[in-house]
Amino acid sequence: MNNRITICDFDNITETREYIIDKYFTNGKYKKLTYVYEAFGYKKLVTLINKIKASHPCPFCKGKKVISEDGLHDGVYKLTIPCVSCYASGINDEGRKEMVEGIDVQTWLTGNVSEVATESSNIDAVADISIFNRIRELNKQEMMAVYQFLMDNKQP
Ligand SMILES: [Zn+2]
Repeated sequence: MNNRITICDFDNITETREYIIDKYFTNGKYKKLTYVYEAFGYKKLVTLINKIKASHPCPFCKGKKVISEDGLHDGVYKLTIPCVSCYASGINDEGRKEMVEGIDVQTWLTGNVSEVATESSNIDAVADISIFNRIRELNKQEMMAVYQFLMDNKQP
């Protein structure tokens, strides 16, 4: 009677993450490992971007995306931090300016749907989702927004 309850979840979404992934993303064309960009019709971007990384590796992390130091001092055997020079992409400045499908690599890696899918309609609900996320990395609201977008834009 004297307590209040706050429900920390999204409006109108009553299912768990696992249930949403199984029901909406596991059986059909879209899998939980699918990247968000694939929902917008782009394919094999990872392969193309990896080729750019191979020819333009970051000089500081050598394309590893992280900087590791061994045996810093007693008790610390290995310290690994994201490489800030390449925004943890493993690709040097020049490589991040390369164009893939008409969009530069940096935007692919760090941009939102709205920066990439400019010609799609009804993108409001998905506009702020990172284009390079995987479906399984999204929160429930974002997953459902991607699913709804796919349903609205289904190929006949
Ligand atoms: Zn780097």
